[in-house]
This record gives sequence, C-alpha cells and structure tokens, in this order.
Amino acid sequence: MVLFLPFLGKQAKSLIMLYKCKNHARVEELKSYGDEVSVLKEDCVGHVQKRMGRRLRDLKNVYKGRNLDDGLTLGGRDRLMDKRIDLFQKYYGKAIRSNKNDKEGMKTAIWSILYHSASSNDNPQHDYCPEGETSWCGWQ
Ligand SMILES: [Zn+2]
Repeated sequence: MVLFLPFLGKQAKSLIMLYKCKNHARVEELKSYGDEVSVLKEDCVGHVQKRMGRRLRDLKNVYKGRNLDDGLTLGGRDRLMDKRIDLFQKYYGKAIRSNKNDKEGMKTAIWSILYHSASSNDNPQHDYCPEGETSWCGWQ
C-alpha cells in the first residue's frame, strides 16, 4: 500500500519533519502505520538539480590541475565550466519537470543533455535530442 502524505492530516507534519531530518529510512523501519503502509520518499526537483550541480563542481575540484586522457583539464574553455554546469542543472530540471509522468521520456531527455553536450562536428550525437520547431538543439 502506498501512503501519500497530504492525506495524513496532523500525522503528516511529523513525517515531513522526519524526512527533512533525512530519516526516511528510520520512518520506514518504525512501521508506525503498520506493515502494509509504506511512506514514499519524494525529492524536490530543485534539490535534485542542486545535488547534480554540486557533484559536477566537486568532480571539477577533484580533477583541478590534472590532465585527462586527452591532455586537457576537466575545466577551462569549452570544457566543464561553472557556466556550463549551471546550464546542465537548468536542462536537467527541465527534463524532469516536462516528463513528470513519463519515465522513458524523462530518461531520454536527461540522456539528450549528455549526448548533445558531448557532441562535436566530427562526432555528432544528437540522436536523443528533441526534434521539431520547438527543439533547443541547433543541430536538428
Ligand atoms: Zn542536439
């Protein structure tokens, strides 16, 4: 059985507080609502975007000053710059929000960000990019 927090009334407040304390696993463990009730952990899209950006920035810091296999650093011009990370965050959030009820569509939209940005004239990778007049992909 799936339990949705808005229908819990007063009890929802304590569950939301526990979730904010990052204790979702503990809430599940307590089984306060019986064995047949499970409490879903839902993440805010904004927080998911933020975590993705933070991990990219952390990765950039880990590789700071080190050359990759192609002899260039991870950061720098036409590489993983903060401005590009900001764009990835924006597109990542948009991919999730615009495919709320379509898991495969969401997956395709997220992969299109990676493939589109890794694309070059010598190696175009726009197979996942949206098509049509409203497409953000200039290659289409
Ligand atoms: Zn593209």
